[in-house]
Amino acid sequence: MEQLTISKIREGTVIDHINAGKAPLVLKILGIDKGSKETVSLAMNVPSKKMGKKDIVKVEGKFLGEEELNKIALIAPGATINIIKDYKIVKKFKVTPPEKLEGILRCPNRNCISNAEREPITPKFKIVKKSTLFAVCEYCGRRFSNFEDNLE
Ligand SMILES: [Zn+2]
Repeated sequence: MEQLTISKIREGTVIDHINAGKAPLVLKILGIDKGSKETVSLAMNVPSKKMGKKDIVKVEGKFLGEEELNKIALIAPGATINIIKDYKIVKKFKVTPPEKLEGILRCPNRNCISNAEREPITPKFKIVKKSTLFAVCEYCGRRFSNFEDNLE
């Protein structure tokens, strides 16, 4: 059987089970771009029993904060995080979409008070999981699930 291996990392984070095609967005969330110094491995459209196809991102020397984990949970709710130290997995967990969210997202309703420039208020959302994830704005009630277009 064909095996796909991407280089092991000594210390850092492996984000596995990312929805196929979303790895570039995960890199963007992590603030990694052409100018970054981090060593990054990226595999896209890897065959997966569970998901059909998946993406994987490995970042040497980086550990994720709560905001980054929340953002990843919104755009890749099945993602698993592996924390690596000395080439070994020392911690493994699934991202969990938050129940409530402050900031991070922008309400897609242009007329929403959270988008008014004169009175900046922190956007607040309730995250609801039915068959899919969606967010409900606490100010105007707008429901939306196109998170990537509305990430801060
Ligand atoms: Zn709103």
